[in-house]
Amino acid sequence: MRCRHCATALRDNEDRFIDLGHSPVSNAFLSAEDLGRAETHYPLKVYSCPKCALVQIDEVQRPDALFSDDYVYFSSFSSSWLAHARAYVDLACDRLQLTQRSRVMEVASNDGYLLQYMAQRGVPCVGIEPTASTARVARERGIETIGEFFGADFARRFAAERGRADLVLGNNVLAHVPDINDFVAGLREALAPAGCITLEFPHLLQLVQQRQFDTIYHEHYSYLSLRSVQRILAAQGLHIWDVQELPSHGGSLRVWAQHAEHSRAVLPSVAALVQREDAAGLGQRHFHGALQAQAEQIKNDLLAFLIEQRRAGKRVVAYGAAAKGNTLLNFAGVRADLIDFVVDASPHKQGRFLPGSHIPVVAEQRLREARPDFILILPWNLRDELAAQLAYTRDWGARLVSAVPTLQVD
Ligand SMILES: [Zn+2]
Repeated sequence: MRCRHCATALRDNEDRFIDLGHSPVSNAFLSAEDLGRAETHYPLKVYSCPKCALVQIDEVQRPDALFSDDYVYFSSFSSSWLAHARAYVDLACDRLQLTQRSRVMEVASNDGYLLQYMAQRGVPCVGIEPTASTARVARERGIETIGEFFGADFARRFAAERGRADLVLGNNVLAHVPDINDFVAGLREALAPAGCITLEFPHLLQLVQQRQFDTIYHEHYSYLSLRSVQRILAAQGLHIWDVQELPSHGGSLRVWAQHAEHSRAVLPSVAALVQREDAAGLGQRHFHGALQAQAEQIKNDLLAFLIEQRRAGKRVVAYGAAAKGNTLLNFAGVRADLIDFVVDASPHKQGRFLPGSHIPVVAEQRLREARPDFILILPWNLRDELAAQLAYTRDWGARLVSAVPTLQVD
């Protein structure tokens, strides 16, 4: 295997970041009929490039297999994510002085969760979203959405036909593209000379420091630091002039970039964050190597807890059928014998089964009927939001549990 950015050969032992065994693709939810069929498991192993320090997953799969029409993630089902999108639109319009004459392009625009706010302000915008089910919802909202994969070819075609954009944004997509160089070349092609790019992605520093090994899954190809993104953008003539730290997804970065020859002056935030990454030891073997042992510890603690409750006759269910939950449950080998069901607000997931663990996904009504003793929150990044939403479960004495970064029972 070779590094996706610099093509350096990656060695199985020396360059390994973490090995989480084998797991099905995390968004491959199953129907009742699927349970009788074989399920494909892929290695879930991550490497760190010794030359450019890009942390990346080893398994290359065809994107159409990962983002099928059954792909079930709809951004608009999270209220905190909608608030985040709205605040971003206000900031970007203000900072970049976007008007009715500007053009905005969002790559991986999902169901129009963000562009709806751009449209409300009268700024012309277009979304690029290859997943048919979410693109359809965006169009129903009145957001023009092009159902194609974004890359250099697409961007050149689009720029020739429609012109370049004053703002090109991509939230939680940079880490999810198999060919990161081609994707970033596309950003450059799509961008007007004085235009601006913003990208949000989970921060590798948080992944390691907060033991977020469950954010590793097959659709998530790259695990990014500011330094690695700076390097990848610079190779395409793009220059980062600001970076913000965000609480989303357990700690993300938002970078602001422009064509190098037209870039604004670099703000002090950039050097300060690079310095923090270096001081923490990011990119160095000893820093990365600790994560494997921490993941094993989290797995053992969770299993011990679940077995203890089962023996005591207590009932444990889970909440939030997020991708990270699948990584955790499959790595720990938890099945429906230890967790009765998982509640999820999305009707697209209800009635189906989690990949690998085959735990049934149900509507919240089941929680009120079953009155479980413990509720394991799988998307720990939404713990506060979900705790407020689940306050009523205290009536029958239910307690909330989360496994990452350490087992916590409230
Ligand atoms: Zn590399």
